[in-house]
Amino acid sequence: MDKELLAMLVCPLCQGKLKYDRQRGELKCHFDGLAYPIRDDIPVMLEEEARVMDVDEKLHKRAGPGDAQPGAAS
Ligand SMILES: [Zn+2]
Repeated sequence: MDKELLAMLVCPLCQGKLKYDRQRGELKCHFDGLAYPIRDDIPVMLEEEARVMDVDEKLHKRAGPGDAQPGAAS
């Protein structure tokens, strides 16, 4: 995926930023809990084509650098 293209893409529902899942080849909107497929390097930004993420997937947040708080885990 082209990084510049990625930066331009927003969720068609909430206009929020999408997160590229390289492993699955999907663009995810965690706000809506939808994962948009990428077919032949072309993102399919259609709600009806999007996969609904399961709850665990939605809750899973990858902490960014600086977010990690050593010792904060309970
Ligand atoms: Zn969205």
